[in-house]
Amino acid sequence: MTTQNNPLLQEFDHAPFSKIENKHFKPAIIKAIEMAREEINAIATNADEATFPNTIETLEFSGEKLDRVTSIFFNLNSAETNEDIQQIAQEVSPLLSEFRNDIILNKALFEKVKSVYNKKDQLDLNTEQKTLLDRKYKAFSRNGANLPIEKQNELRDIDKKLSKLSLDFGQNVLAETNKFELHLTDENDLKGLPESFNEEAAQAAASKEKEGWIFTLEYPSYLPFMKYAENRELRKKMALAFGSKGFHCDELDNQENVLQIAKLRYQRAQLLGYKTHAHFVLEERMAETPEKVNSFLDEILEKAKPAAEREFKELENFAKDLDGIDQLQKWDAAFYSEKLKQKLFNLDDEKLKPYFKLENVIDGVFTVAQKLYGLSFKEVFDVDKYHEDVKTYQVLDENNKEMALFYADFHPRPGKRDGAWMTGYKSQYKKDGEEERPHISIVCNFTKPSKKQPSLLTFNEVTTLFHEFGHALHGMLGDTEYPSLSGANVYWDFVELPSQLLENWCYEKEALQLFAKHYETGEVIPMELIQKIKESANFQEGMATVRQLSFGMLDLSWHGVDPSAITNVKANEDKAFERTKLFPNVAENCMSTAFSHIFQGGYSAGYYSYKWAEVLDADTFEYFQQNGIFSREVANKFKTNILSQGGTDHPMTLYKKFRGKEPKPDALLKRAGLIEK
Ligand SMILES: [Zn+2]
Repeated sequence: MTTQNNPLLQEFDHAPFSKIENKHFKPAIIKAIEMAREEINAIATNADEATFPNTIETLEFSGEKLDRVTSIFFNLNSAETNEDIQQIAQEVSPLLSEFRNDIILNKALFEKVKSVYNKKDQLDLNTEQKTLLDRKYKAFSRNGANLPIEKQNELRDIDKKLSKLSLDFGQNVLAETNKFELHLTDENDLKGLPESFNEEAAQAAASKEKEGWIFTLEYPSYLPFMKYAENRELRKKMALAFGSKGFHCDELDNQENVLQIAKLRYQRAQLLGYKTHAHFVLEERMAETPEKVNSFLDEILEKAKPAAEREFKELENFAKDLDGIDQLQKWDAAFYSEKLKQKLFNLDDEKLKPYFKLENVIDGVFTVAQKLYGLSFKEVFDVDKYHEDVKTYQVLDENNKEMALFYADFHPRPGKRDGAWMTGYKSQYKKDGEEERPHISIVCNFTKPSKKQPSLLTFNEVTTLFHEFGHALHGMLGDTEYPSLSGANVYWDFVELPSQLLENWCYEKEALQLFAKHYETGEVIPMELIQKIKESANFQEGMATVRQLSFGMLDLSWHGVDPSAITNVKANEDKAFERTKLFPNVAENCMSTAFSHIFQGGYSAGYYSYKWAEVLDADTFEYFQQNGIFSREVANKFKTNILSQGGTDHPMTLYKKFRGKEPKPDALLKRAGLIEK
């Protein structure tokens, strides 16, 4: 195939989905890598002295074709995949990581970057340029570019070991999950479980040619079982199996992997000149240091612990009154919490859903964006899309300037992965006096309309739509020079602020009455239901908070210290959980050996981020509430200082510009009902 007839290699603005065939991807990616390599070599071998424009800026704008092609490809691999695309992904992924590695290991290129970095104080750079320079330099230095060759080799060696260990860790967790099944043949054991849930369990059994019902440790099976199964012994059996993954001293045991991973991460950090792995990670986070994270966790724990203890007592009494339970155990938590919640709120999805027809909710989120930021959304029908279900919108500001192209893909289908996410097909940037606006997409898995009924969302789906749309606004309103600093390209513990912030509007009468109307009668959602939604959202918030904090503390117990003295995984864990403990310890269980977030995925020294982001969104929303939730003044400040700025400056600086002060956890604690309003 030649370059000329590959649509991915032609010039295009919006992605030419209708012309793209699977066979185009691999040759386009190979060609785009080649083009990017040439661009990078030209920088590295430039005979002129390295300058900010000829090195840093040129590096920033290199590989544009590759970015466009791979974003189309990997977005499709998530939203509309098939075996061919998956096969191609297998083939191109090593090529892409090889290409990225080659850049990081390119000594001549690094020398150029470093020479600009070293004279950064003499250069007359603006804040965004300084940030770009810092990011480019750190991409090399944090991967060992400054180390002598033998240390570099040591680092590569550690990285190799670490990726093998993470892989082993994940495979063990998966194998443990798959190994266990709870096979029931007595119908009495199903007491309390929902009918449709049992049908799935019966199908699971039938597919293995077994009688009865099979329940597993996968979340869609495990969580409802723990919530509804009345048989306490069976709940215990499930909980013990779930809580002891990788902790059986057999070939799937993860204890040694945990110890090794923690040690190697520490060694890696030390090699690069950081005190611990957490210091290394947090250098590129809003929180900056493990000391700050620790005091953050401590402060919230101090405030949340009394509420958690109160709630625990309440749950304990409830279980005792109801079933004579003397000692509440971990396997009782979800079950009695659900019962107590039903008793207190009696709020179920079916009651709320008629008020949340998808089209109304979309109108609602658009109206909120219009009231806050003056944006309007015009559905357009002449833009190529990858599936007929996808909707495309032109996003305009108050002066009718085109701000973005917006793709929205709402319903599940085979070939789309689970969950909901925001992504993009083209970045926002400015170059040579020209401004390029972004192409933003959200992908969800909301219930499809049927012949009898339109698509009616659960309240959880409503907040999910607002959440993803909040990320999308971050992208749409980007106003930066450089694509890698635009929109949601910010530090990890800052990226959830725009998304979580927007969820707040789902709980406000002033916002809900704009769109939460009964799909048949047009009646606005009753205030009493809104009140119940709010209250039930705070149900057991103290316990939930303490639980989250405990995970953050466990994370830092591995990554915020020199772990070489730790020899016993369970003992270290028990120590980390000491201050957050509510339920009796279970000797057979260990969380670390299945804590994939931090030992397999990329969340190491980052688990605190969930709470951190909540503090930011609550603190921000409080500012809105004080001035009216549709205050244009506050919205403008948020847009100017946060949304449009992306990652051009340190998030704390941006936040202080917006809010006039550092974020405080008080608003979150008030919102969650943990301290007095
Ligand atoms: Zn998010």
